[in-house]
Amino acid sequence: MKFKCQCCDFEQEFTSTEVAFEAGWDTPPRFSYTTCDLCPGICVFMNLPHDKAHALWAKEGRPKEFSMLTCGIDDDIGDQKKSDNFDASYEQFKAADDATKADMVESLLNPRRGKDG
Ligand SMILES: [Zn+2]
Ligand SMILES: [Zn+2]
Repeated sequence: MKFKCQCCDFEQEFTSTEVAFEAGWDTPPRFSYTTCDLCPGICVFMNLPHDKAHALWAKEGRPKEFSMLTCGIDDDIGDQKKSDNFDASYEQFKAADDATKADMVESLLNPRRGKDG
């Protein structure tokens, strides 16, 4: 099945949503949106501008790894300090297991909702 990123329109073929998820994509049914491994789903969800990143990718090609310097929202692009902070928390995120990741994303998307409902 083919997935299309709602943020950058990048398309990629995966055998299942699970395979896509393992490749770093956010896809239904886990998420309510579809984003590629490079686009932060939170930006799509919150409708944050991400155009500078896309312009950069058009010029220099898609980055190999997610990083705030090349994939951040417009306000953050090129901000090394923000990028360092972000990278630290992203490392944590990457190292977490699936359930913890889902929790982290969930709490980002619903900041006011506690764990108990
Ligand atoms: Zn994308
Ligand atoms: Zn994007």
